[in-house]
Amino acid sequence: MTKSLFFSLLTSFVIFSCDRFDADKEICTTCKPGSEPVRKVLFVGWDGVRSDALKNASTPNLDSLILSGIVSYNCDRGEFTVSVPGWSTILHGVWPNKHNLSENSFRKNKYEDYPDLISLAKQFKPNLSATVLTNWDDFLRITSNEDYSQRYDNDEQVTDAAVQLLDECTPDIMILHLDYPDYIGHRLGFSSSGMEYRGAIEVSDFYLGRVMEKIYAREMNYNEEWMVVVTTDHGGEGTGHGGQDNLEQTRKVWSVIRTPGATNHELTQMNSVDLLPTMLKWLGITGITNLDGVSLN
Ligand SMILES: [Zn+2]
Repeated sequence: MTKSLFFSLLTSFVIFSCDRFDADKEICTTCKPGSEPVRKVLFVGWDGVRSDALKNASTPNLDSLILSGIVSYNCDRGEFTVSVPGWSTILHGVWPNKHNLSENSFRKNKYEDYPDLISLAKQFKPNLSATVLTNWDDFLRITSNEDYSQRYDNDEQVTDAAVQLLDECTPDIMILHLDYPDYIGHRLGFSSSGMEYRGAIEVSDFYLGRVMEKIYAREMNYNEEWMVVVTTDHGGEGTGHGGQDNLEQTRKVWSVIRTPGATNHELTQMNSVDLLPTMLKWLGITGITNLDGVSLN
């Protein structure tokens, strides 16, 4: 084998084994003004929040959303109880047998066949503005085609940026990912009543309140109508959550879907894949045939 052939084979192996994502993705920071005058979507993901722990926590801001919307504490997030498959299921609207991710790796993704919320929405409405903010690098790889996607050092910075962007460009789709509950769960335990874990959930609710304060003001002053979806990607047991497909406290999660003026309605069962068609329908987008869920609105 010649040296150049060896190196070209080596290069092709390296390319083949790399994830198909732009390394510079996190510095995409165009604050493009939203184009939808009324209906917009805020999606907030709280990583690793058990349903029973959520019920035990004091979450006044989430409670306000539940009062005007759908809530379920029995939402099947599917198998492979780690974050990448979980967020992929939620934000691509299909189960792992389609998006093909079963661990915290993107290598085998079929995202091209099953695009994410932002990519799907922009197929129908190319002028939409979309923002994703997180403090977990890999979360940025769940979606694509954002106008603004940025990674921060902590949930407080994510919240600060969200509030600022809502003023500066008011995207049509804003996705926030808060990681603190999962971080505490891994360090000190996921449980129904652990004080530290409960505290992390309450901190997340505080940040939700800061963002909602801005959303409520915009609804009042600019006649915007925001669907606000809050959910989680998995629960947990002990200090972990991987390989717990059959544990209710890990697999059966909660979801909240708030729309202005709606009345409270609890669903005894739903699936995480239902969230994407619900958000798309709010934006006037229906008729995508290869999704696994149904709109709940
Ligand atoms: Zn997670």
